[in-house]
Amino acid sequence: MQQRASRIVVLAGGIGGARFLRGLQQAAPDADITVIGNTGDDIHLFGLKVCPDLDTVMYTLGGGIHEGQGWGRADETFAVKDELKAYGVGPEWFGLGDRDFATHIVRTQMLAAGYPLSAVTEALCERWQPGVRLLPMSDDRVETHVAVEVDGERKAVHFQEYWVRLRASVPAEAIVPVGADQAKPAPGVLEAIADADVILFPPSNPVVSVGTILAVPGIREAIADAGVPVVGLSPIVGDAPVRGMADKVLAAVGVESTASAVALHYGSGLIDGWLVDEVDAGHVGPVEEAGIRCRAVPLMMTDTDASARMAAEALALAEEVRAV
Ligand code: GDP
Ligand code: CA
Repeated sequence: MQQRASRIVVLAGGIGGARFLRGLQQAAPDADITVIGNTGDDIHLFGLKVCPDLDTVMYTLGGGIHEGQGWGRADETFAVKDELKAYGVGPEWFGLGDRDFATHIVRTQMLAAGYPLSAVTEALCERWQPGVRLLPMSDDRVETHVAVEVDGERKAVHFQEYWVRLRASVPAEAIVPVGADQAKPAPGVLEAIADADVILFPPSNPVVSVGTILAVPGIREAIADAGVPVVGLSPIVGDAPVRGMADKVLAAVGVESTASAVALHYGSGLIDGWLVDEVDAGHVGPVEEAGIRCRAVPLMMTDTDASARMAAEALALAEEVRAV
């Protein structure tokens, strides 16, 4: 009897998630991969629904990503943005290119016609053929807001305003996934988790990517109850995020920017295994003491081969966990 393909579920944000997934596809070409994508970064701009993390995964795995940037489309032009600017219509701080605009127009049109985001995402993936099943964490609206103090005034701003416009330069006092408590997992999410052989947390942002997905009621519990190895990879290398400002949002939830602190933040009730970079070998001990099996391996996704080696290490650690 032929063995069925192993079923892998991955909780993904944008760039870190997408680059890891490309490596995972190379490391496990026969695996049946379901991606649960973060939608807390979603934003309405110019009347359009923009889903940055879903699109980053879709474009990266579908061959349409701007490789150097890690988000947005390759060979992009900005005629629409320039025209909007000529009308004095912003925001200017969020870069939407012409090719990217088409995705958001199609999505918004389908949502307006009554299709849920999960069905819209599936339709967009018909074109991109990402080779994974890409599910939004929820069809319900969830928007991450950040409580900040600007000029002595405390206010909440949309995550994208905090991240892209303010470049996380003002201290974040709280991170709130608005709507998450009322949101339901999208169709297929809980089923995929229950049917998984392995669950992976790529080196995505632990607070505003993976953390937001886990904030949808039912998802964390389903992962903890799945009874299969759950293995994560650290986005923090040498006590700093590899790219971006994850340290700022970790500080907002009271977590140090170290590879071990992130593992303990997830906790042994959720993850069974954790990979840290070789430079963080000193963090293996504290993670293992907390009851999480830990290994130090190279964790820099310099190219797809490097990401594939990381994915293979994560799968090997999952098998070690399963064996005990
Ligand atoms: P975003 O939604 O585009 O911010 O992407 P994710 O949440 O999926 O991933 C962001 C995280 O990926 C950041 O915290 C980075 O530190 C991490 N990251 C990016 N590149 C690498 C890498 O090469 N290695 C590791 N270990 N982490 C990375
Ligand atoms: Ca994101």
